[in-house]
Amino acid sequence: MTQLSVRQRHGRLSPEAVAALNSDLAARFGNRFNASQAIRQAHGHTLTWLKNEPPDAVVFAESKEDVIDLVKLCARHDAPIVPFGVGSSLEGHVNATHGGVSLDLSRMNNVLAVDAEDLDCVIEPGVTRKQLNEHLRDSGLFFPIDPGADASLGGMAATRASGTNAVRYGTMKDLVLSLGVVVADGSFMRTGTRAKKSSAGYDLTHLFIGSEGTLGIIVEIVLRLSGIPEAIAAGHCSFPTIRAACETTIETIQSGLPIARIELIDTLSVRAFNNYSHTALPEQPLLLVEFHGTDHSVAEQTRRFGEIAAGHGGGTLASATKLEERNKLWQARHDTYWSQMTLRPGARPFATDACVPISRLADCVEETLDDIARSGLVAPIVGHVGDGNFHVTPLIDIENAAEVEAADAFAARLAHRAIAMGGTCTGEHGVGQKKREYMEEEHGPVAIDLMRRIKASFDPQNLFNPGKVFYA
Ligand SMILES: Cc1cc2nc3c(=O)[nH]c(=O)nc-3n(C[C@H](O)[C@H](O)[C@H](O)COP(=O)(O)OP(=O)(O)OC[C@H]3O[C@@H](n4cnc5c(N)ncnc54)[C@H](O)[C@@H]3O)c2cc1C
Repeated sequence: MTQLSVRQRHGRLSPEAVAALNSDLAARFGNRFNASQAIRQAHGHTLTWLKNEPPDAVVFAESKEDVIDLVKLCARHDAPIVPFGVGSSLEGHVNATHGGVSLDLSRMNNVLAVDAEDLDCVIEPGVTRKQLNEHLRDSGLFFPIDPGADASLGGMAATRASGTNAVRYGTMKDLVLSLGVVVADGSFMRTGTRAKKSSAGYDLTHLFIGSEGTLGIIVEIVLRLSGIPEAIAAGHCSFPTIRAACETTIETIQSGLPIARIELIDTLSVRAFNNYSHTALPEQPLLLVEFHGTDHSVAEQTRRFGEIAAGHGGGTLASATKLEERNKLWQARHDTYWSQMTLRPGARPFATDACVPISRLADCVEETLDDIARSGLVAPIVGHVGDGNFHVTPLIDIENAAEVEAADAFAARLAHRAIAMGGTCTGEHGVGQKKREYMEEEHGPVAIDLMRRIKASFDPQNLFNPGKVFYA
């Protein structure tokens, strides 16, 4: 049997061990090492209701060599390493539950190469999605995945992120061609090549995508890019009920209409948009849509979607073809997290997401809305519904234990409901700390046992982001 270290037995390093670790970190990383309380707390989780668990120290990496040295140094000290992109994850992913070092990768933010002929690029993990698209602006290419936050591509790969465009362009699992990773003994490896497909061996790329920093540190990413479409049209359409909006979505997807974005905004969230983003949308369930293609195909898609919506009692599709109008609508969508807070000033968001097969979307959303009404929560819903994915954000007073418990119980019912419908407890936010409790129900004990053994074989010392994805 493997000998357990003091940290593995007791959960954290002793104060003496932390002092020795920090002394070696300061010697190697100089002013890129920081153990001040403010910086440590900023690297524990801050965006959710989960309590902040700061690391013992923070190191800002600037190169692959920094990461390699850090991993070797932490292995010698038996110190956990929690990779950190921009810290926008929502399930306590970057909380340092066992202390150790938060490895901040945001300064590794170089775009290393763009190949317009092959429609791909090579980047460092701290490049953010907006930074990448800014860099690509004059190339006629873009990277389509857009979580609401300006997340790092390393964090997005590690959480298997998606966003409003995923219904047409896919999620991180579809758009990462290969990764450069520093593994537990400090070696660097590549998981694949720039080829668009390969049958050569186990698919390590997809094992790292969604691994939430538990298997190794991503230091390089090869991404697929897309050409900017010739024509883009956006619009919004209101519905008498949330079921009608969901059924419109289901029919749109089932009919094969190649919609680029189809977002559900419930009545409460529409009110939040109007409050915060100064839109003047009717306070009814709403679908926010976008079509990409040629002028002709966009016109055809718009017409066809309008017919489907009308068949479910939807209002007129209000089009936004000008860039400024489209930007205003999508900015309102991307600001949802902040605008929803206006619905209950002073409350904190308890964000959760679920995803079901498209045919179950209307049932799952409607049952969830009934559940919200029964629980008395203020809990707005938005969703990337073309994928069957939606987010619910109870707004709670986190100092009030009864409210936290009610929101937690609601999130559990949502996870059980989605899993029972053949779906998942999280479509894109990931597992982090909180959703570990649904992993066995979703995957079954055999799969979870195999995941534990994969983790142990990649990371026998349990250095990388311990306490995440599943219970040890
Ligand atoms: C307002 C708002 C809206 C959001 N909307 C969406 C959405 O639409 N879709 C969506 O998918 N998510 C969404 N999110 C969640 C969040 O943006 C994503 O989870 C994002 O992928 C996290 O990226 P990050 O850079 O912030 O990573 P972090 O939060 O810093 O880290 C996330 C996880 O990845 C690991 N990690 C980070 N970098 C690396 C690396 N280089 N190597 C290995 N592991 C690493 C960390 O250890 C951690 O486990 C939203 C969040 C907010 C605040």
